[in-house]
Amino acid sequence: MDHDLPPSRQTPSLPLPDAFPARCAGGRRVPVLLPYPFPGPFDYAVPAHLDPRPGDIVLVPLNRREEIGVVWDAPPDDAVPAHKLKPIVGIIDSVPMTASLRRFIDWMAAYTLSPPGEVLAMALRVLSTRETQVLTYRRTQPPPEGARLTPPRRRVLEVLDRHEPLASPDLVAKAGVSTSVLRGMADAGLLVAEHAAAGSPFPCPDPDRAGPALSRQQEAAAAILRGAVARRDFSVTLLDGVTGSGKTEVYLEAVAECLHTGRQALVMLPEIALSSQWIERFQRRFGVAPAVWHSDLGSRVRRITRKAVAEGTAPVVVGARSALFLPFPDLGLIVVDEEHEAAFKQQDGVIYHARDMAIVRARLSPCPAVLVSATPSLETVANVEAGRYAHLRLDSRHGGASMPTVRLVDLRETPPERGKFLAPPLIAAVRETLARGEQAMLFLNRRGYAPLTLCRACGHRMQCPNCSAWLVEHRIRHQLLCHHCGHTIPIPPECPACHVRDSLTPIGPGIERITEEAADLFPEARRLIMASDTITGPHAAAAAAHAIENRDVDLIIGTQLVAKGWHFPHLTFVGVVDADLGLAGGELRASERTVQLLHQVAGRAGRAEAPGLVMLQTFIPEHPVMQALLQGDLDAFMASEADSRRDGEWPPYGRLAALIVSADTAIQADTLARDLGRVAPHGDGITALGPAPAPMSLLRGRHRRRLLLKVRRDVAVQPVLRQWLASVPVPRGCRIEVDVDPISFL
Ligand code: ADP
Ligand code: ZN
Repeated sequence: MDHDLPPSRQTPSLPLPDAFPARCAGGRRVPVLLPYPFPGPFDYAVPAHLDPRPGDIVLVPLNRREEIGVVWDAPPDDAVPAHKLKPIVGIIDSVPMTASLRRFIDWMAAYTLSPPGEVLAMALRVLSTRETQVLTYRRTQPPPEGARLTPPRRRVLEVLDRHEPLASPDLVAKAGVSTSVLRGMADAGLLVAEHAAAGSPFPCPDPDRAGPALSRQQEAAAAILRGAVARRDFSVTLLDGVTGSGKTEVYLEAVAECLHTGRQALVMLPEIALSSQWIERFQRRFGVAPAVWHSDLGSRVRRITRKAVAEGTAPVVVGARSALFLPFPDLGLIVVDEEHEAAFKQQDGVIYHARDMAIVRARLSPCPAVLVSATPSLETVANVEAGRYAHLRLDSRHGGASMPTVRLVDLRETPPERGKFLAPPLIAAVRETLARGEQAMLFLNRRGYAPLTLCRACGHRMQCPNCSAWLVEHRIRHQLLCHHCGHTIPIPPECPACHVRDSLTPIGPGIERITEEAADLFPEARRLIMASDTITGPHAAAAAAHAIENRDVDLIIGTQLVAKGWHFPHLTFVGVVDADLGLAGGELRASERTVQLLHQVAGRAGRAEAPGLVMLQTFIPEHPVMQALLQGDLDAFMASEADSRRDGEWPPYGRLAALIVSADTAIQADTLARDLGRVAPHGDGITALGPAPAPMSLLRGRHRRRLLLKVRRDVAVQPVLRQWLASVPVPRGCRIEVDVDPISFL
């Protein structure tokens, strides 16, 4: 976040070309918030023919350009004399931004210490001054036979595989082709071209279609959620229950009630691009698909969706973090599914936690919020215990499916063969599973072939030039790749340090390497890799899910992507290759997150009649995390985790905020970090830690240092931060990012 900002409430300075009617002088003025990191709104003059109201979306001059802004609420001030104000050009959008969304933006800006315009930018990202009629394209299904596939045509199909449909300009940009390629493909029957439909593209889901008959406990929980929706008031409820207990079915009842009340519902998922199964399920329940919102949508679809949301004709939206900024006129329910997921935290730009902001949005609407998880975060559990959130719990898996049996494989006692990573008990279990005609899954939360490449001759390690990180070998792509900045090099034939040929050796496993091992061990098994490299979007995700459901796959090998909400009825064995992986860094939430992740992965096994088995390969079977997973007793684990955090006043029993200093040079970073450290706040219940080099002390070529502010729960962290930041000027080339409630400490 940039703290070097111009003073507030003046029309920005560059003189504008001539002709501003003098008749504006002495007339009305309104504050307009612009989607840029200014500290607040600027005043603009109101020409006689316009009557802008708060929330109106307007076009205003800014530095010789015209920009979109929103008429804000602050009373205009007289700091700038009227004759110096520039006038509003026009009011452009028929649907004004609601007061509750404006308050949400203000609140969020204040909480995250971001300029309000930067938060506004997230809500305006989809608007455009021109609405033109554009064609959208989708692929012909099934693809016609015999059509010629040139490389440009193939690129178009690949892009559509990730996002579909796409407006012509988006497709042209993403595929790097000309519009004539698209027309040619449409003529050849490869693509279907459509004009965007008039009216709302989102038919109303039918809440009266019969859902499944709920169990007594499910029905009781559903009734309570329906009641909360019917009250049309703010409340927060944690819906908690083991994986496969029917939480989704239950909260869909709350969505149905919301449809009955005529209000809109927002369901937030951590990884919407991968939620094909969820959307299909929604469709089975309500007859039509919901509106979908995520950052990979093409601009045309975004505009149509945003408009439908604003006009109230998109009754249900399922979306990622950014869906929080949609202009719902009458939000009646927010569901945050998998509320414990770290993916809800946005780490760049405005740093915020979408789960927490969802609750703020619900409070301002006002409407109920429902947090859903089989492994709730300690934050949410603490809020339940403090009586701030209600708590509903489903105790058992639906339809008598039992929870999977968990076994620990002690790698010290039964190690894998030299140079291999799968231990004998795990191999035997996969064999037995496959022999029974059931599906097995191997889980390793690491992409690529090997996390480290080392020279056997001189010990040189292949490192990213821009980041404090090893380059990860991706053998399928013949590349070494930095997972932080995307830097790639071809796998070198010799060591760049000592120039010995063929001396570079992969160290440790990634899922590509596990796949190779599995191919040797289980050659007949049909394998599917599920990682962000192979599952690049909703279509690939849907195809993978269908292949698994149809039993076209025997062995799934995946990263954390496989942990998220999938329902695979024929999957009965899950093998975790390295259960210790997440514990290595020793971060505040390492244990909590490892338990959550591994429990979710384990929860993919045995969701139907056949019982599930889970094996965790570990070097530390006695570790409380492994014991909690073995015994399936997460409550006890979370309770002891809570105790240790409470003792040290760590979150959620204390508050944290991180300052991340970054600069072009190490000296600059050190200097600014030390300056901040020297004037660090202290006092009753306030501690500042650092500065210290960040674990990623170099990231994308920038040098990083961290400071951490730790305050007692009853101390408001924002005023302390504001004062602290105000006391240190930020030199050119330096930045200070503020991360309130950090969950990552890299
Ligand atoms: P969770 O969200 O808790 O993981 P789900 O809602 O996905 O659980 O339910 C797991 C599976 O059981 C799904 O296939 C779901 O359709 C099915 N299911 C849950 N409750 C019922 C019910 N009352 N009747 C029929 N099927 C159910
Ligand atoms: Zn890098």
